[in-house]
Amino acid sequence: MGAMDRDWFYQDNNTKPKRIRRQRRRRSTGRGLRLGTFGVIALVVGLYLTPTVFDRYILAVALPHLPGSPVPPRGVDASDVPLGLPPATNGSTSFALHESPDSSQDFVAYDPCRPVHYVVRPDFAPAGSDGLIEEAVAEISAATGLTFVYRGITTEAPSEDRETYQPDRYGKRWAPILITWTSPAEIPGLEGDVAGLGGSPYAHTPSKPFVYVAGQVQLDAPDLTNIIQYPDGRDQVRAIIVHELAHVVGLDHVDDPSQLMHEGNNGLTALGDGDRAGLALLGTGPCVPQL
Ligand SMILES: [Zn+2]
Repeated sequence: MGAMDRDWFYQDNNTKPKRIRRQRRRRSTGRGLRLGTFGVIALVVGLYLTPTVFDRYILAVALPHLPGSPVPPRGVDASDVPLGLPPATNGSTSFALHESPDSSQDFVAYDPCRPVHYVVRPDFAPAGSDGLIEEAVAEISAATGLTFVYRGITTEAPSEDRETYQPDRYGKRWAPILITWTSPAEIPGLEGDVAGLGGSPYAHTPSKPFVYVAGQVQLDAPDLTNIIQYPDGRDQVRAIIVHELAHVVGLDHVDDPSQLMHEGNNGLTALGDGDRAGLALLGTGPCVPQL
């Protein structure tokens, strides 16, 4: 996550880092953070890009059984069938998915046969933001059919190099999604008009599909402290969190400005039909109990 202008890399277990995507960065002109006479905002906000942050490739083979393993035991919490199903949508195609690391796999998603755990670092949360993360998670859960479970607050700081398995902190399972209120001082990628970042690394074991684990949402607390004071500020901040969570579960930016996943937000506060269709698809990923 870090610099938004930079190329992203992922590491394979035995090859040099490979370039997998180049971030599109369009600096908008005249679309900065601004408060008009009527409190109208030419928002913002770093609903710009967000990469499939922390792209990383984890080889899981026999490792779970070794002391000091970098990956958890297999199949923790895995059910035989998906825990939920996404709602029907109108079939819009106005969405984009993060690029799959494997051409034989159409898209990467969280495993729908397990609960998706998340934790929140509450430090620096803007006044008046109580409940917004929960509301945004509920919206993504409803749109994907994925079951989210709140695991409480954490002191873990956001990081570009977050460990996806932290047994001492979170037990012997993949680390939960980490949602933090942070700042450009801590996460330089939030500099300028970027209000948030979101994405997930993926885990993989040979001959099985890639699965997202241990995502992060990094919210720019100083920016959002300003935005939440606008007349519809809570709705705007919630929309930013929803946008970043949609990156976490696998949506990329789409050119259609009527969707929340457009990279420059036009002040939308609700998911569009394309966003919903994409999120519904992302709720139908493969179950991979071998991870
Ligand atoms: Zn974005």
